[in-house]
Amino acid sequence: MNLSYWEIKTWFSQVDFCIVGSGIVGLSCALELRKRFPRAKIVILEKGVLPQGASSKNAGFACFGSLSELLDDLKEHSFDDVFNLVKRRSDGLKLLRRTLGDQAINYQQLGGYELFLDKDADLLEDCLSKKEAINNLLNPIFGDSVFSLKSNSFNFKKIKTHYIFNQFEGQIDTGKMIEALLHKVLSNGVKIINSIHVKDFVEMNQSVKVITNINEFSTAKLIIATNGFASQLINVPVRPARAQVLITEPIRDLHIKGTFHLDRGYYYFRNIDNRILLGGGRHLDFTGEQTTVFDQTKKIQEALEALLKTVILPETSFEIAHRWSGIMGVGNQKKVMVKALSNNVYCGVRLGGMGVAIGSSIGQELSNLIE
Ligand SMILES: Cc1cc2nc3c(=O)[nH]c(=O)nc-3n(C[C@H](O)[C@H](O)[C@H](O)COP(=O)(O)OP(=O)(O)OC[C@H]3O[C@@H](n4cnc5c(N)ncnc54)[C@H](O)[C@@H]3O)c2cc1C
Repeated sequence: MNLSYWEIKTWFSQVDFCIVGSGIVGLSCALELRKRFPRAKIVILEKGVLPQGASSKNAGFACFGSLSELLDDLKEHSFDDVFNLVKRRSDGLKLLRRTLGDQAINYQQLGGYELFLDKDADLLEDCLSKKEAINNLLNPIFGDSVFSLKSNSFNFKKIKTHYIFNQFEGQIDTGKMIEALLHKVLSNGVKIINSIHVKDFVEMNQSVKVITNINEFSTAKLIIATNGFASQLINVPVRPARAQVLITEPIRDLHIKGTFHLDRGYYYFRNIDNRILLGGGRHLDFTGEQTTVFDQTKKIQEALEALLKTVILPETSFEIAHRWSGIMGVGNQKKVMVKALSNNVYCGVRLGGMGVAIGSSIGQELSNLIE
């Protein structure tokens, strides 16, 4: 692309901070940098016409881990580790809500439910036997018991008669959240350039040369917030993990309200605008879903539809309105990678399925790495 003198001067000269990726992390990092460096030139480069990873594609669960997930984490981590994991997610959600306001993101604390399929009787037993221990562990964070037992009042089928309820789980409107975040970032004088793909970078003495599909320019600091796409640019142990979703047409008198985790979290669904949004099924084809291609597969979409028909809405007729997928960043460890890669290059990636909860605070931590 043949850029003009004006374009080069306005967008690509004397850049103090160049952030790659306009997801929750990149945008939150820009906001924090603006607070610390009021006069700095901050430029975000985004390959999509809109943010194009997970932040505008997700299910909008404002969650911090179901009971079975936390018990699973305890197999590999200490009590302290799990406490800190949940605290980080809870603090991150508070930061997101403080930054944007509950109304702007349509935050609603309708509670979260963990459903157990008939085949998972043992898992439910295990969860029940350890429920109080986990409630005690988390009490200093929430000041009350997080998990309790509730009967199946939503009349789901093929599940145990009771589910585990989390009174502190909420939901947001993902579109509103990313729109509010983009608006806030732009109104803080940060420049966002879309449809520009960072291909590579070269470290110079005091700066970094950024190579994109349209040009090359210099920045004092380069911050990589590309999550599932990170390994295309830097050498980090982050794998892409696609997650597929579908949403129904509006359903009259929909009685289901809340966020729901099913089959050890492999499936998740919620109400939104009188519809059911349902995602998951990655465990049916982990290898096939390790991709950055935004697509859907017959196998997973059929499994999602079957779940709607047999478990979630067995007595209600519904139609599928739309299907999509997003790309997450995962690794062998559930740990986010927030670190300096050199004097002038930083990354905040590998957020897994918890970016709504931790994205804002990871952006903040990333900004704080910079001297
Ligand atoms: C279907 C789905 C459902 C989910 N549900 C939930 C949920 O309910 N609750 C929850 O907490 N989390 C959920 N997540 C996870 C959450 O959305 C992510 O953890 C979070 O959005 C990650 O934010 P991010 O900013 O790190 O990455 P992203 O949002 O992926 O942002 C990275 C950006 O970098 C851009 N980019 C990549 N490479 C380049 C390049 N070379 N040049 C320029 N730009 C580039 C991408 O286009 C992208 O916009 C879900 C994810 C998916 C996919």
